[in-house]
Amino acid sequence: MSDLNIQGVGMTSQRTRDRLIDRLQKKGISHPEVLRIMRFVPRHLFVDEAMASRSYEDASFPIGHGQTISQPYIVARMTELLLESESLENVLEVGTGSGYQAAVLGPLVKDLHTVEVLTPLYRQARDLLYKLGYRNIRTHLGDGSWGWPDAAPYDAIMVTAAPDEMPAALVQQLKIGGRMVIPVGSQNSEQILQVVTRTSESEYQVKSHDSVVFVPLVSQ
Ligand code: SAH
Repeated sequence: MSDLNIQGVGMTSQRTRDRLIDRLQKKGISHPEVLRIMRFVPRHLFVDEAMASRSYEDASFPIGHGQTISQPYIVARMTELLLESESLENVLEVGTGSGYQAAVLGPLVKDLHTVEVLTPLYRQARDLLYKLGYRNIRTHLGDGSWGWPDAAPYDAIMVTAAPDEMPAALVQQLKIGGRMVIPVGSQNSEQILQVVTRTSESEYQVKSHDSVVFVPLVSQ
């Protein structure tokens, strides 16, 4: 862990992080646990070194391979929506990317499984989350549009890339009463953040929330 500057200095310091939290509160994020955790997760370690000084802006940034680290407001918003689940023992994230969303969600759940389809991003996030001391986050390499059947069913699922339509396999891996937060819509049109609650073996309810922009959920 010694090679990581977790605390940060200057534009990556705790004061800069605190200012981001103030901004999130002004934008309507109110869940105390989400705010508490985002206050200490070192986002500057999840972006390219060249971007570190801007890492506490409320913006998304490229992380290589055509992918992006989500904007902190969206991370906070999706986490808040997921926390309305009845239970958060076993949770799945699809689209590990930088690992930042996993680092925010991890401390709020018992076990977090996260799946990434691109090998270099998978490796980088796996190593960083391990170095930062997370031991309840299991990183997996694979196509998460099929979920991660080995650890299903889940109390909650968060998808951080956008499919054109809701992938049926993901709903099937939710426990009854479980919920999934997912941006749905094509790249050329508006994507909508949806909360899907599985109400029975064969039924689910969908509630639409914010309009968002995500990279596509690829299907192999
Ligand atoms: N949660 C991430 C956001 C990353 S962007 C973060 O906090 O940084 C979305 C990620 O989803 C990208 O890394 C992309 O490679 C990945 N992705 C796209 N389609 C996928 C799929 N079918 N299965 C798993 N990951 C996928």
